[in-house]
Amino acid sequence: MTTIDLVSYEDALASYDPVMGLEVHVELGTRTKMFCGCSTELGAEPNSQTCPTCLGLPGSLPVVNAIGVESAVKIGLALHCEIAEWCRFARKNYFYPDMPKNFQTSQYDEPIAFNGYLDVQLEDGEVFRVEIERAHMEEDTGKSTHVGGATGRIHGASHSLLDYNRAGIPLIEIVTKPIEGAGERAPEVAKAYVAELRELIKALGVSEARMEMGQMRCDVNLSLRPNGTEKFGTRSETKNVNSLRSVERAARFEIMRHAAVLSSGGTIVQETRHFHEEDGSTTAGRIKDNAEDYRYFPEPDLVPVAPAREWVEELRKGLPELPRVRRNRLREEWGVSEHDMQSILNAGAVDLIVATIEAGADAASARKWWMGELARRANEAGTDLAALEITPVQVARVCALVAEGSLNDKLARQVIEGVLAGEGDPDAVVAARGLAVVSDDSALGTAVDEAIAANAGIADKIRAGKVAAAGALVGAVMKATRGQADAARVRELILERLGVEG
Ligand code: ADP
Ligand code: MG
Ligand code: ZN
Repeated sequence: MTTIDLVSYEDALASYDPVMGLEVHVELGTRTKMFCGCSTELGAEPNSQTCPTCLGLPGSLPVVNAIGVESAVKIGLALHCEIAEWCRFARKNYFYPDMPKNFQTSQYDEPIAFNGYLDVQLEDGEVFRVEIERAHMEEDTGKSTHVGGATGRIHGASHSLLDYNRAGIPLIEIVTKPIEGAGERAPEVAKAYVAELRELIKALGVSEARMEMGQMRCDVNLSLRPNGTEKFGTRSETKNVNSLRSVERAARFEIMRHAAVLSSGGTIVQETRHFHEEDGSTTAGRIKDNAEDYRYFPEPDLVPVAPAREWVEELRKGLPELPRVRRNRLREEWGVSEHDMQSILNAGAVDLIVATIEAGADAASARKWWMGELARRANEAGTDLAALEITPVQVARVCALVAEGSLNDKLARQVIEGVLAGEGDPDAVVAARGLAVVSDDSALGTAVDEAIAANAGIADKIRAGKVAAAGALVGAVMKATRGQADAARVRELILERLGVEG
């Protein structure tokens, strides 16, 4: 990796104004591929999900996947786009071993959706509108694995393996108009946009949009222009960035790199770049100028797509509440701050909390357990909240046991530990571990008497009227009962025994 002297982020922004363009590819969750009936299921034997069409064999004919088109229209509508009355697929001609047809079936000057926007909310609550140029349908390529080299890259490899199971899986590519005016917040806007788009795609149910699985990936185009000028600078295009954090880091790095090149009198070449997770840097890929000629032409083997207006309106009516709107509604219902809601979102806890409330918990308790104890455990285990072995229904049951006084928080944490360890439902864990709160006077009486006897000095102070000192005795009883005593009742018993009024 070549090292370059970067300009600090602050210095870069003092002289230059960033312009960004984000291209996001989303793999649709259709059961079959975009132009043939092959399965899209992950994890199958290489090349077991192929046919003459997705292998590009002579004489094979493609057929458009209706769900693919429907998903594209839904995405377009949710992004406030116009939906084409009539559009076609186009061949994008180029050779690559993982693309056996020698062209990618895509859309060119006739995208199915265009001219929209997505409002994204930044961490401080500010809303930034990102304008959408187009959303078009296309297909994924196969996958190459380079074998025999040290790095897994083609350089140094002895041979390459090809798996065409992914070839032909439907993709929607969503391209923004140039994003101007974000200034120093450009990297944050980029991250917030991809995050919002991911939520939207999930809410529409058209894809799980899991970035770590490559179901959603982002190309970050970035250029700088001197502050106060209009004309765009030359852009670089950092390809296939596959996490929210990486999108932000890639934009940030490119701002510092462009500034370094420009301020030392150099010129930026229009090229693709690779992002490196380890240190957040990018390195040059291939030179890409606008003259790149794919010899696009309308796909002659597919009929044009002309979505009927009534159907489009029907789909529009069926759209779910937009994630940002839903989040703001929930934020008000739950009575949490902008900042707390952002943390809940970042933790991936919104739907879990909603489901826990639906299962009977009150909002404050549901939030407390998911964002407290469970978030801590997920963090320790290095997994997502959703991956924890506990369901919202089980969390709601823990909340109910606490609300009715059968568990205190300390015992509830042990119940959660038991559920996570596979010991069964909360009630089963309570029974097996004997975790119920003890509030029965005869059971508590002995522990209270012992605590008073062992702490005669403190007991005298309480008798003399220093009621606040009772806390120390309550603590002693809680310790002796391993946290299972009903603390409020213990306090009452202590004061009764010592003959003072609470
Ligand atoms: P390509 O096929 O070369 O990637 P696209 O038009 O599909 O081109 O995508 C380019 C993306 O970069 C779009 O989001 C566009 O708005 C954005 N863009 C175009 N010019 C610039 C520029 N000078 N600086 C930053 N972004 C740009
Ligand atoms: Mg591009
Ligand atoms: Zn096929």
